[in-house]
Amino acid sequence: MELPEVEVMRRDLEKEVVGRRIKDVDVRPQRNAMRIIRRHARRKEFSDRLAGTKITKIDRRGKYVVLFLDDGDALVVHFGMSGQFVRGTRRQPLPQHTHVVLEFAQGGDLRYIDPRTFGEMFVTKSDELGKVKELDHIAIDPLEDTFTWQEFSYELARRGTKLKPLLMDQRFVSGLGNIYSDEVLFAAGLRHDRSSDSLSSQEVRRLYRAMRETLQDAVRFRGTTLDDEAYVDLFGKPGEFQSELKVYGRRGLPCRRCRTPIDVVKIAGRNSYFCPQCQS
Ligand SMILES: [Zn+2]
Repeated sequence: MELPEVEVMRRDLEKEVVGRRIKDVDVRPQRNAMRIIRRHARRKEFSDRLAGTKITKIDRRGKYVVLFLDDGDALVVHFGMSGQFVRGTRRQPLPQHTHVVLEFAQGGDLRYIDPRTFGEMFVTKSDELGKVKELDHIAIDPLEDTFTWQEFSYELARRGTKLKPLLMDQRFVSGLGNIYSDEVLFAAGLRHDRSSDSLSSQEVRRLYRAMRETLQDAVRFRGTTLDDEAYVDLFGKPGEFQSELKVYGRRGLPCRRCRTPIDVVKIAGRNSYFCPQCQS
């Protein structure tokens, strides 16, 4: 999941689970379920803090989702490489790799599924969220209104590194991975290997706008589901942004803007797609 998919998840959770009371929490018996709640010593310690509470609000901080509870606690979730929530009911069998099930007093349950178990969830006091170091220095959030192009410009000039790895650096921008960094650079007309301190102010504005618009569009289309179907939404449905992708995964296909074949290079071992004509 990159940022748009996490935001789609946050919005769905807001509609689906706010106001629901958690009746029971089941941390599944397999050993790697403990990896998901690794900040807690025991299953019971985690479930006891959640059982009986009501979910009051859902927030997102970068790629973290925070579920606020009516007793002053908060459940913090990071989906890692392959984690996701899916809604279910007791009658539906648990999918493979389900590690935690939050059963509601009314209205089914919420399952946390994660094949690779890099994701995690933990409970903390909501007034101590500021002490959680991963939530403390969250970088620029392209979906937040608080981030201005002047700030962005200052940060780009200060770094002086190649654009693609910089956009994927989670300390710089939250939530851009391999897919959206390629799409943002195409939308901005900039090459992956341009140095961030070489941009004109017009190019900075283009990149700023491309970042916001690409991610907003991706949220509108409910995220990107590639052929591996690694991402599905809260209801198990794939996103639709994959059919909107301009460069990612389109090696050799004609550019949607100029018909030049899309080119690919390896950056840090992963394919990076761009149009040699439209991006400079
Ligand atoms: Zn092109």
